[in-house]
Amino acid sequence: MKRNKIVAGNWKMNLDFEEAQTLIEDLETLLDEKQPSCEVIICPPFPYLELATDEASEHELFEVGAQNCAAWESGAYTGEVSAKMLDSIGVNCCIIGHSERRKYFGEDNATLAAKVNLALKYEIVPIFCVGEVLEEREANKHFDVIRKQVEEGLFHLDIADIENVIIAYEPVWAIGTGKTATPAQAQEVHAFIRGLVKEKYGDDIASQIHILYGGSCNAKNASELFAQPDVDGGLIGGASLKAEDFVSICEQASK
Ligand code: PEP
Repeated sequence: MKRNKIVAGNWKMNLDFEEAQTLIEDLETLLDEKQPSCEVIICPPFPYLELATDEASEHELFEVGAQNCAAWESGAYTGEVSAKMLDSIGVNCCIIGHSERRKYFGEDNATLAAKVNLALKYEIVPIFCVGEVLEEREANKHFDVIRKQVEEGLFHLDIADIENVIIAYEPVWAIGTGKTATPAQAQEVHAFIRGLVKEKYGDDIASQIHILYGGSCNAKNASELFAQPDVDGGLIGGASLKAEDFVSICEQASK
């Protein structure tokens, strides 16, 4: 089965409001000009989401994702943002389990599974991130780590729900470091993840599910990563903050 490619930009905690407006405008100009055929998602910080969803519904050039959501439905959780709130402003997807959330906010697989459930309840597509740290790769433990993250974060879902999940493989040693996984390393792990999905849910789901690569993916290396048979696009951090680079990556995902 031929899967369409997806390119998602994770802006992280960057840009003020004016800069966010400018980036969205620049993206719109370039996306309109280049018309990449891949699915394009931008994930700005919470305060800019509504600006992004308004623009998305007017121009239909990209979809909008959040970078996180709460593990609770609603209530006395000061500072949190719920999946229901995201849905109410037209957000389409949500990054869940980014390694920075796991590391700095202590998010474990059980918490992430709760977030996945809430996102799906409000028809928000989880972009569920997995990936090993350098020591785990050096000790050749990366497959075990990734298996545990995928099993504990996602494998409680039934078929109707797993169909609506995107997985992102992001080796932590490659995030923001300029050290990209080689295409062969990415392919090896993507094939492994697809194999896990196949064991659990069967062939059809495994061949439909999207698995994105993230970790220093940029306009120079995207093509060869996206050429791998199990790499269905990218989750892009740093390079998503420059409209030209991000749209170039989208074009490379559209070949
Ligand atoms: C990310 O944080 O999801 C990411 C892939 O970052 P970068 O592209 O900057 O490595």
